[in-house]
Amino acid sequence: MRNPFLALVRAGTQTLTQSFPDLPTEATGLPTVTAASCRGCGACVAGCPTQAIVVAGDEVTLDRGRCLGCGQCVRCCPTGTLAEERATRTAVRTRAELLLSNHPGPRTPSAALPLLRRSLHVREVSTGDSAGDLEVIASTNAQFDVARFGVHFVASPRHADALLVTGPVGRGMREALLRCYAAMAEPRLVIAVGTDAISGGLFRGGYAEANGVPTDLPIAAYVPGAPPHPWSIIHGLLLAMGRD
Ligand code: SF4
Ligand code: SF4
Repeated sequence: MRNPFLALVRAGTQTLTQSFPDLPTEATGLPTVTAASCRGCGACVAGCPTQAIVVAGDEVTLDRGRCLGCGQCVRCCPTGTLAEERATRTAVRTRAELLLSNHPGPRTPSAALPLLRRSLHVREVSTGDSAGDLEVIASTNAQFDVARFGVHFVASPRHADALLVTGPVGRGMREALLRCYAAMAEPRLVIAVGTDAISGGLFRGGYAEANGVPTDLPIAAYVPGAPPHPWSIIHGLLLAMGRD
């Protein structure tokens, strides 16, 4: 390569210019609840490995905070009441917003947190979700480039504004997580990335008491999925910053 500058120009820009496109065809989206009326057959409840769905009469409630995105409920629903969502803006600010229903009650809009709007320094603690960790790493690569939104990952909790948690937080990691949080200066917030971190996922209720991030921590954003797509993780980070 004689001229490195020309080589760089020819390579072009690697960073994706369109933010939050729909999922690529090879990825499976999370289920959503549509307006199509439910027949009450119960097939979705019987097939769900994490008891994420409750059906009462014609009312369906889906807890995305427990959903692994396996797609079984969508495949077996005869009425289209449960359907796949292809959007990547799937993060929310409150746990209640992860509950989807075809009979939604009144909703209190979640408040923005414009605390750390311009930049966010993040310390990740993985409590055992390698797939989620890989997607967090992908969010920092040249394509997704989370740094362009003012987000930087740091090595020490002393330098962090946000604690990003992946994995189901079993007994063995709970103390380490709480110590990491205690080492952070105020203002500080927590982001739960992935269904394991939100509820424990498949491990919930097991002997390891792996039921997700302790609810007494101030969780500013929840990113459902097992694992979530890098755009969904970036969406959660922007929500926590009060920028979406
Ligand atoms: S996609 Fe989610 S809600 Fe549906 S069966 Fe799988 S885990 Fe349960
Ligand atoms: S949502 Fe679909 S699969 Fe579930 S009970 Fe209703 S009709 Fe059956």
